[in-house]
Amino acid sequence: MPMKILATDLDRTLLPNGKWPADPGAIDLFNMLTEQHDVTVVYVTGRNLDLTENAIEEFGIRHPHVLIGDVGTSIRKYHPDGWQPNEGWNTHVKRTSPGWDAEAIRATVSGIDGLVEQEREHCGPFKQSYYVDHANRESILGTVGERVTGRFDEVIIYSFDSESGKGLLDFLPQSATKQTALEYIADEFGVAKSEVVFCGDSGNDVFPLTAGFRGVLVRNADDQLVAGVKEAINDNPDLTVYFAKGGCKGLNGFYTGGVIEGAYHYGLFSDGS
Ligand SMILES: [Mg+2]
Repeated sequence: MPMKILATDLDRTLLPNGKWPADPGAIDLFNMLTEQHDVTVVYVTGRNLDLTENAIEEFGIRHPHVLIGDVGTSIRKYHPDGWQPNEGWNTHVKRTSPGWDAEAIRATVSGIDGLVEQEREHCGPFKQSYYVDHANRESILGTVGERVTGRFDEVIIYSFDSESGKGLLDFLPQSATKQTALEYIADEFGVAKSEVVFCGDSGNDVFPLTAGFRGVLVRNADDQLVAGVKEAINDNPDLTVYFAKGGCKGLNGFYTGGVIEGAYHYGLFSDGS
């Protein structure tokens, strides 16, 4: 029996921290079902390690086997005695994105109106991040694109945080995104990409959701993501994506409920086993 990998975004995917109703008990159910069915759990999040630990504490979600943090730019394994960084990942990123230079990107975008650098704890050697004035995003992103695109082996990822009303802009090495980090982990565990389930709700989840994993969009997924994924399916009908709708195990399909629904859909969980 091949290893079962369930990868999920945290905020507003596994974590019920948005404006939609949360199912009481869904997190306990998630913890129990992943344990019971011997599922390897991977969190794939924009959060850094501290903020991930806060989420584990605050919401009572289990520890994952693997934490892909900082939007894919860090990978750690969890052991009962602590977190173990994956050094191989850092080496891999440097080797495969040789033009990456966070400091140079910082200098290149400085002085753009409506673009404010995020606090240092949200930036890292492979992550240069900004808040964006969402109302003026088109002109801001246009200027950013003109100055940066293609110069630093980078990807530029924009997402909207519906909680804070802020636009978030990440510059990452092309080789270190949620998608490539999850590919790296699948490879390390020897599991085919097409067997790995990934659940998401917004902006930067579009890449792993359209990269050949088994995708799940929770019911509260934002319109931008739903549109992006549907467009990708039009171009590539072989993509496997499931849109949670609620009704599974009496859950409403939002957040954790949508993750559980997706895991049942793909057979990671089943009743009577
Ligand atoms: Mg999210």
